[in-house]
Amino acid sequence: MADGLETLNQNSFPVPALDIVLAEQLATLARQGLRRELRRVASPQGPHVRVDGRELRNFSSNDYLGLANHPVIVEAAIRATRDYGAGSGASRLICGNLTPHHEAEEALAAFKGTAAALIFSSGYSAALGVIPALVGPEDVVIVDKLIHACCVDAARLSGAKLRVFAHNDLNDLEQILQWATGRAELGRILIVTESVFSMDGDLAPLKPLVELKEKYGAWLMLDEAHATGCFGANRRGLAEAAGVSSQVDIQFGTLGKAIGAAGGYVAGSRTLVDYLVNRARSFIFSTAPGPAAAGAARAGIELVQGPEGAARAATLWQRVAEMKTEMASSGWCPQSSASAILPLMVGGEAEAVELSRRLRGLGVLVPAIRYPTVARGLARLRVTLSASHTTDDVQALGEAISVFHPEPDSPGASLVA
Ligand SMILES: *Cc1c(COP(=O)(O)O)cnc(C)c1O
Repeated sequence: MADGLETLNQNSFPVPALDIVLAEQLATLARQGLRRELRRVASPQGPHVRVDGRELRNFSSNDYLGLANHPVIVEAAIRATRDYGAGSGASRLICGNLTPHHEAEEALAAFKGTAAALIFSSGYSAALGVIPALVGPEDVVIVDKLIHACCVDAARLSGAKLRVFAHNDLNDLEQILQWATGRAELGRILIVTESVFSMDGDLAPLKPLVELKEKYGAWLMLDEAHATGCFGANRRGLAEAAGVSSQVDIQFGTLGKAIGAAGGYVAGSRTLVDYLVNRARSFIFSTAPGPAAAGAARAGIELVQGPEGAARAATLWQRVAEMKTEMASSGWCPQSSASAILPLMVGGEAEAVELSRRLRGLGVLVPAIRYPTVARGLARLRVTLSASHTTDDVQALGEAISVFHPEPDSPGASLVA
């Protein structure tokens, strides 16, 4: 129906031509096992959630420390709302710049050990603001093949020359750096990578990576979305654990995962933050985050830094170890994961969706991750653990997955059910 003509549906309402085109596309996605649907969760985030009237053990959130519904953080959101209202009214640069935003940024800078920090409405919008503010058409952005979509989108938006290096492959990165530094019109070079990769759970080799970026005079932006709160002696992230924090030019992440709140952040020098306030378009042209989000973020950051954060991180790592044992005993090998993200490789999109559905029938919620989140043919079940899981939760998932076995000798192929 590409001619734009309207037809009538069975109730004789005109069907807009737009809907006809879109419905065809949705049908194509469904045929490929790629159609996505929203699932309504009728409870707060936690180790157990209510979905379709049933309680499921939840192995799908990024609430690594179990803080999303923590009473201290909930109370901080309520207090910020009571004191500063529900809405912030305008962008930060107009009149929406409230005390809770500054308090969250001061807490974040202290936590990250940087001179300054800046919060955004989301990590996604932070990336869209930051990368195009730092580089343009005369520059080069080099990203890891498995970097999060927000950084890819932001790199494209910047208009810089975009080059992709093979996942965690520093030889490939160095070749691209050599090419980039050898270009006649010398622009800037920005490397963007993740410390803990969101869909594989493996880690970037930060120490040699930092050496490379220094050797070639490139800037480094590090996405710590899945490491902040979990890694490092003070749980600042993988940069802290690797001892390279001071060499990361732009520390970037989200307040919506282990911190238990919502929003994105950048931490770095005062000059970087002052510059972004003037140049990051998603900061300038967007209403400031609500007081509740900023209040919750500050409380989450403080909680993560303190003894409760330490205890929760220790529990998280204990659950991860237990889960790996469970997985190994049922023949599932969680690949090269070194984090709280333990992907079970399936391969086919439809198979992954079907396996996720069957696991739901057994009372566990594990999402099927498919293209375009991961490459075609690399669909997987992405198990994530939280400090709020009990050993009993872990065993229940272990039992559920032991019903299914990965097909021997063909990792990433179909399943023997
Ligand atoms: C979740 C995520 C983001 C985006 O953060 P939001 O606050 O959810 O928008 C960025 N990078 C990575 C690696 C992520 O997993």
